[in-house]
Amino acid sequence: MSQVTCVKCGRVGDRLASPPLGGQLGGLVQAQICVECWKEWLAMSIRIVNHYGLQPSDPADRKQIHAFMRDFLNLREA
Ligand SMILES: [Zn+2]
Repeated sequence: MSQVTCVKCGRVGDRLASPPLGGQLGGLVQAQICVECWKEWLAMSIRIVNHYGLQPSDPADRKQIHAFMRDFLNLREA
């Protein structure tokens, strides 16, 4: 498994085997985020979805979830 210097935790960790999302955002996550931090986000995203009553199938809600994700993971544009 290849490694990545993660922008969330600052450590060198395992890289995700494949982009976890479609499109450019998935590529950014794979390029910048370690597996451990991605797992943290998955747990956090469930709390956010429940807390705000968001529907991941709704495009507008999905946009909001992605905004939380960028913020949580400290993602930088490539
Ligand atoms: Zn990390």
